[in-house]
Amino acid sequence: MKIVIVGGVAGGASAAARARRLSEEAEIIVFERGPDPSFANCGLPYYIGGEIAERDKLLVAPKQMLIDRHRLDVRTLQSVESIDRQRKTVTVKNLADGSTYGESYDKLILSPGASPLRPPILGIDLDGIYTLRDLRDADRLHEVALHAKRAVVVGGGFIGLEMAENLVRRGVHTAVVELADQVLPPWDREMTTPIAEHLRANGVELILADSAAEFVAAERGLVVKLKSGRELPADLVVLSVGVRPENALATAAGLEVGPRGGIRVNEHMQTTDPDIYAVGDAAEVKDFNTGDRTQIPLAGPANRQGRIAADHIFGRDSTYRGTQGTAVVGVFGMTAAMTGLSEKVLERIGRKYETIYLHPSHHAGYYPGAEKMSLKLLFDPQDGAILGAQAVGRDGVDKRIDVLAMAIQGRMTVFDLEEAELAYAPQYGSAKDPVNMAGLIAAGVVRGDVRIAHADALSKLAAEGGQLLDVRSPQEFACGSIPGAVNIPVETLRDRLAELDRTKPIVAYCQVGQRGYLAARILMQAGYDVANLSGGYSTYCQMTH
Ligand code: FAD
Repeated sequence: MKIVIVGGVAGGASAAARARRLSEEAEIIVFERGPDPSFANCGLPYYIGGEIAERDKLLVAPKQMLIDRHRLDVRTLQSVESIDRQRKTVTVKNLADGSTYGESYDKLILSPGASPLRPPILGIDLDGIYTLRDLRDADRLHEVALHAKRAVVVGGGFIGLEMAENLVRRGVHTAVVELADQVLPPWDREMTTPIAEHLRANGVELILADSAAEFVAAERGLVVKLKSGRELPADLVVLSVGVRPENALATAAGLEVGPRGGIRVNEHMQTTDPDIYAVGDAAEVKDFNTGDRTQIPLAGPANRQGRIAADHIFGRDSTYRGTQGTAVVGVFGMTAAMTGLSEKVLERIGRKYETIYLHPSHHAGYYPGAEKMSLKLLFDPQDGAILGAQAVGRDGVDKRIDVLAMAIQGRMTVFDLEEAELAYAPQYGSAKDPVNMAGLIAAGVVRGDVRIAHADALSKLAAEGGQLLDVRSPQEFACGSIPGAVNIPVETLRDRLAELDRTKPIVAYCQVGQRGYLAARILMQAGYDVANLSGGYSTYCQMTH
């Protein structure tokens, strides 16, 4: 068996190593256009910022190790230029000397990745405008960041924010320009407001709902002209506005690609030619949540797909379940993570859902160092199926989203979250972990124990002459409240029921939703029409920020 692999990083290197573990006899050739195989793309921003001090650390599996340990024929600086499907050969260009030659294959695996988008903005080809994909890009940015004073990052996705943090770490004044009215566009907006505040607090100039309209060369560096008319001087610009699957080889060979450019594959990662597989960012995937075909460029999926392709070549029935979109990003010590469907996607596809918010501590409140996180759970209001989750905070955010990601993969419900048995000691969690709490709250909603309301329902409540009830302490109320609210602390509520109009709807709220829930239960049992504002005043502030 002769296997030829195009691309020697996440998907390609995984496929090659797996293939060798399955067959000592196979001939395995890995073509990599760049100088290094198997480098850590995800670590590049941290090398630029100096957090990863040694460049060598980014070489996860150096070429010699792949040769010695896995007996792979790794050919760097060699670009696969075309595929002849009839003859089952590829044409390869040796970038070191410009020569070309042919190589035959029994099975071909394409893992060429995705290239950063360079939108057709005036001046886009000027010096000083960078994208970040590989070590050579990182070397360039590493060098210029050492001398730059001002940078503009175009795009507030996870690579853009990681770059902003690392440029600031280098002492470069950094502005992030994002077209959407939020950072991290895949997340729901209210879950990103703490990240936006945190970026600003750490010196990032965040410009939302605006875009780069033109780049102009200046006496020193560049000027980025924004659509709004603002002009930002910059010594360097980093473009991080998304990626496009590298499908040129595939399309030239007549393989099918999807509407977003991803190479079409089946569940074994086989393209429309059964002898050619495609994995990683270049491949179209099934959205685990909706079943639709989509593009979700992430390292974990690329690694798993590489392994599945190799398995299938050697007769194993491995199948790819689909990509769920589990992602995490950290900036200046704050973390945002998500898995599954967001509210905006659920709205777009018209699927019924309910949402709850909570703000638990990441470990027992009495143990030193407890920090609040915000957690949002999306679920089916009828059967409680978990549809998605997002969280923002500091420690422990990644762990909760990972647990919820597994719950989604296991097609679990909010009732399973109530029962989930999770590791607990005071310095790690709580006897009722945030994941259990999310389950308890959501299950209560599905069972009808309490009705919940969200901030967007408050204007309707006001129009209907309803009552907004703040059940926190007078001191908390004085520090900030929702306009129109009356304050009756939950501790006195049972004695002051007569102050509320039994004929009008009530929305009760507290700081995070817990006392609001208690108040709602008291009022429900006393015959009032009441809902609890999910996530309380904390979520209200995130939503209206
Ligand atoms: P790649 O890893 O990009 O590898 C493709 C390789 O193929 C390239 O090296 C390319 O040179 C080579 N190639 C292309 N065409 C040819 C050809 N014709 N001949 C020979 N070689 C060719 N994902 C996460 O999940 N978490 C993160 O934190 C994260 N951070 C990231 C940070 C940065 C800066 C970047 C750029 C990406 C990050 N990603 C992250 C995304 C992740 O790196 C990709 O999803 C993953 O690397 C995709 O793997 P791949 O094998 O499809 O492509």
